[in-house]
Amino acid sequence: MSVKVFKFGGASVRDAEGFRNVGSILKKYSDDKIVVVVSAMGKTTNALEEVVKSYYAGDGKTSQLLDAIRTGHENLIRELLTTPAEALDDLNDTFVQLDWILEEEPHEDFDYTYDQIVSIGELLSSQILASYIKSLGINSRWLDVRDIILTDNTYRDARIQWEATQKNSRDKLLPMLSEVNHVITQGFIGSTSENFTTTLGREGSDYTAAILSYCLDADSMHIWKDVPGVLTGDPRIFDEVIKLPRLSYKEAIEMTYYGAKVIHPKTIKPIQNKQIPLFVRPFLDPASEGTVISDEKELSYPPVIVIEHDQALLHISTNDFSFVAEHHLSMIFSLLAKFRLKVNMMRNTAISFTVCVNNIPERIQKFEASLGSEFKMVTDNDLELITIRHFNDEVLKDMKKNKLILFEERLQDTVQMVVRNLPRMKRKENV
Ligand code: ADP
Ligand code: ASP
Ligand code: MG
Repeated sequence: MSVKVFKFGGASVRDAEGFRNVGSILKKYSDDKIVVVVSAMGKTTNALEEVVKSYYAGDGKTSQLLDAIRTGHENLIRELLTTPAEALDDLNDTFVQLDWILEEEPHEDFDYTYDQIVSIGELLSSQILASYIKSLGINSRWLDVRDIILTDNTYRDARIQWEATQKNSRDKLLPMLSEVNHVITQGFIGSTSENFTTTLGREGSDYTAAILSYCLDADSMHIWKDVPGVLTGDPRIFDEVIKLPRLSYKEAIEMTYYGAKVIHPKTIKPIQNKQIPLFVRPFLDPASEGTVISDEKELSYPPVIVIEHDQALLHISTNDFSFVAEHHLSMIFSLLAKFRLKVNMMRNTAISFTVCVNNIPERIQKFEASLGSEFKMVTDNDLELITIRHFNDEVLKDMKKNKLILFEERLQDTVQMVVRNLPRMKRKENV
């Protein structure tokens, strides 16, 4: 069976107009077999994170925060559907399950509870989208993706159990697709074998679409975005960015690994492994192909800039001037892995090791505490990591303007630098 996988992110379904746009895109494909993966509406995941925090803090604001999310979704249902009763019932059921959790004392495992609560964003948006798509007369059905995607119990960063997921896709999802044309399901979430909900990490819906594409041997995957395709830089940060019409899997995985927010970095491997082309397409211009990511070889690219904000540089050195030897490095790396600090850049000298990581203070503190008395650590905060692929002198000069460079490295076609933005110095008048 020839199957396509479509993914619509929170930006595509942030309001009724967004849902209508998704509907008009899906209508164009109403005869195709499509799995539609949808994220939570707009910024709902952030709002649900606030609910979890408030529940643990016991600050009395939890129900107020939850009510705002509920009202937003109810309003959307009423705006979108002429007969909203069934969708409102579904919404009510989802919130009842959430109320059961919130009535209990907070569970000692924060990450576990986070997943049980935050996952409702995708359940709500997918149920609403499924009701709406049905109302348009498209032969479609809602699917709970937790019946298909099985994971381990690393809450908030769950690992896929590929064999079980592949089996479920073949045994449950394919038969569904022979009955209906569009299956509407959730991104971002999965289930343990004990039926507890897990999440795959923030922005994980792209990854869900790639997992399902892989398991179904899809002929293509399409991510619908609020941009014309993959650009040479984030348009929220840079003017004069241009669209890259074609990208190799290798270029795409490098860009996203360094932090290009347009696609989740885990997305590329599954689709590369099965040679499935990935189209990054503008949801406001569905006729455009956007960017095609496939097995292109030896393309030449213009300079591409990726910026990761909120970085920390950890300078680790030995107290007694002994060399940072391999056994130290091995210990440091296992601690970095233990506390899930992703190494974005690193360098060692005789008695020190410097590493750039995302600034997650709780994890950095635990890491520092575990280093032991042999080492001391100094941390620089408020830094940016700038990665420039296919750089030239002009772009480099431009990117260094008003920046203090703390750390720079060049490797063939990539320059990386960790920088601090400097305030612009201006000469005082009359001096
Ligand atoms: P969604 O809700 O669909 O997942 P996101 O907001 O997560 O959308 O991702 C789309 C955003 O990614 C764009 O609006 C854009 O600002 C940002 N972005 C960052 N880097 C790039 C890039 N190189 N090309 C295109 N968009 C980029
Ligand atoms: N809703 C989730 C998030 O905001 C997943 C996603 O949108 O990809 O992180
Ligand atoms: Mg996203």
